Amino acid sequence: MTDKSTAKVFCATVMQTPAPNEVEVIKDALINVGADGVIISVTEPTAAPYRERMQAAREAGQLSVLAAGKYLLPGLIDLHIHAPQWPQLGKALHLPLYEWLEQETFPLEARYADTAFARTVYESLVSNLISNGTTTAVYFGSIHSEANKVLAETCLRHGQRALVGKVAMDHPEQCPDYYCDPSAETAIEQTAELITHVRALSGNDRQLVRPIITPRFIPSCSDALLEGLGELAASTDCHIQTHCSESDWEHNHVLARLGKTDTTALNDFGLLTRHTVLAHSNFITRDDFDIIAETRTGIAHCPLSNFHFANSIFPLRAALDKGLRVGLGTDISGGPSASMFDSCRYAITASLALEDGVNPSLTPEVRGLRGSRIDFRHAFWLATAGGGEVLDMPIGKIAPGFQFDAISVDAGADGSNITVWDGIDNGIDILQKIVFGATRTNISDVWIAGIKVGIH
Ligand SMILES: [Zn+2]
Repeated sequence: MTDKSTAKVFCATVMQTPAPNEVEVIKDALINVGADGVIISVTEPTAAPYRERMQAAREAGQLSVLAAGKYLLPGLIDLHIHAPQWPQLGKALHLPLYEWLEQETFPLEARYADTAFARTVYESLVSNLISNGTTTAVYFGSIHSEANKVLAETCLRHGQRALVGKVAMDHPEQCPDYYCDPSAETAIEQTAELITHVRALSGNDRQLVRPIITPRFIPSCSDALLEGLGELAASTDCHIQTHCSESDWEHNHVLARLGKTDTTALNDFGLLTRHTVLAHSNFITRDDFDIIAETRTGIAHCPLSNFHFANSIFPLRAALDKGLRVGLGTDISGGPSASMFDSCRYAITASLALEDGVNPSLTPEVRGLRGSRIDFRHAFWLATAGGGEVLDMPIGKIAPGFQFDAISVDAGADGSNITVWDGIDNGIDILQKIVFGATRTNISDVWIAGIKVGIH
């Protein structure tokens, strides 16, 4: 990072979705950002102080004007990433979840006992995600304390807002002996140690990188571990993440072991809070919906991963209609794409498949689930403001009081698949085209906490 924490002013056309079905386009907005990275004001050209603020910014040498054809969007928030799985992105997707874990994923994750390997992989991962416009990343690490610290330090060095968790998994029947916490006590102690370490990291005064308590999922954790992590969450006021009712196998395994759903069990262990992120939640029941709403728990919908591993499509629209907090995740590497724009597109596609159904031998009346579809507005909201609400952090909108986490999208970049037609496309059309067509080629600049971070 070469940029500094100074006050800045941007003049740019802002495109965002402040609510799930609302698009806001502000042409030539003036965005004043404080030295602390927080947005002070967003001024429209018709507002009285516009000229005065523009002139003051120019005189102070603080003004940056985005070139024509570039648009300022909130940064993308990826709620579900398995950092150690980065080397297997795009591999082994033909296997069912259980075999994928046993044959491919656990052996790879075990390699992070080698801290030098972790350093190489995490450097690649964090810089690639930033280049894809991911300004906030929620990471599962591995079971290894040192590698997890490397991940947190790598995020901080690159300037990426992140939550980093030590994966806790101690169940001897579900974890391989070569990749298993030796006991519940050890896993809880190491989780507590990472929380303290991350919060005290040098240069992390503003908590750009935060810890997150991370039981892998109920099958791989003993009751004692889940209970201990619930107590740790209460005493440390820390975020929590885990998987919930992801696939037929996983959902039924928990029912058979505990006689209740993932959601009920996690709640009983004290793991559902305002700061919990549940990945997937595809098979949640009506009662589970109520528990998630009451506890104000968030959900990371991972549509591409779900196509591969979940045996079903998450009832996203029903969750939104019920007022649940939902955002999007890539689920690297269960989802073989690092792009949150891809996540948006798959969320839309998945919702259409759920709405219409996919089995042509059924009649239209019984083929799908009516009222399930979303469109580009919901999808982009999920990837930005929705993700911010899940995390209970002021991110995902370009608005006063929010962090200046933003991306510049250059529709006319070399190799761009987006074509904007003068006289035909208005601002809302352009945002649609960005959601459906943007690749990392289009991301020309990324700012996190008001600081321009490096992309390649
Ligand atoms: Zn996952």
